[in-house]
Amino acid sequence: MFLIKPLSFVGIFPTCQLNKSSAEGVKMLHFPMFNRKISKKHRSPNYNDRINYDTPDALILHYTGMKTAKDAIARLCDPKAEVSAHYVIEESGKIHHLVNNNKRAWHAGKSQWKGVSDMNSASIGIEIVNPGHELGYRAFPEKQITALAGLCKDLMAEFDISPARVLGHSDIAITRKIDPGHLFPWEKLARDAIGLWPAPTEMDYQAGEDLILDPDALHELLNGFGYAASLPLGETVRAFHRHYYPEKFTTAADKPDEPDIATAAKLLSLIRQSHEIS
Ligand SMILES: [Zn+2]
Repeated sequence: MFLIKPLSFVGIFPTCQLNKSSAEGVKMLHFPMFNRKISKKHRSPNYNDRINYDTPDALILHYTGMKTAKDAIARLCDPKAEVSAHYVIEESGKIHHLVNNNKRAWHAGKSQWKGVSDMNSASIGIEIVNPGHELGYRAFPEKQITALAGLCKDLMAEFDISPARVLGHSDIAITRKIDPGHLFPWEKLARDAIGLWPAPTEMDYQAGEDLILDPDALHELLNGFGYAASLPLGETVRAFHRHYYPEKFTTAADKPDEPDIATAAKLLSLIRQSHEIS
């Protein structure tokens, strides 16, 4: 029987290399060509004041899920739609700034991360143009990701946002949203410390073998990492895979709801990273 309490997984390992890799990531600029010209031609009336937050402390990344950038911008600026985001990034890399950073844009909807349910107040929302799963989901072009990376780095520096708080809409609204999806290059961005990426050690895999036998412990650790509590384990695991283990969506044999030893090992690695940088 598996007797270790969930939180005892954290901290039983020697200091990991992950801090080092993120520190190196900061020095290694993988996206040096960012063009910081940002258009303010389109402005959205859909915002209000942040509640309990003077400044944002998270970045939430989305895809637009519409046919064109023009359609998406029109909707995000339509007062009747009552949705918005602070930024939209076209596939060409062109950036539009629709809502001032100090205001509360309406992009997260019903959501939760680390017990906070008003993620609109806590975050900056960035919409990345992509037709999405219903209209022809496709890879995100390099120019678009380069522009996104530069924008994220600027916002993270300006508002002191931790890499652990760069999240996808699917992370904070796990039963409702699947964007930006499994094709989003989270791993590449994490090389520049934009978001976290798991780097499990041999010990993580060994601990993962035990953890996978205890679904309650796995569930508790996923909730502790940030995912909303009181939702089925399968859906939470699927959201985790969508961000941190995308092979679960690209290999026909893999079932995205079902955790395996690598799921557990990746989670343990991420928990340790988030403890080390906080
Ligand atoms: Zn979204």
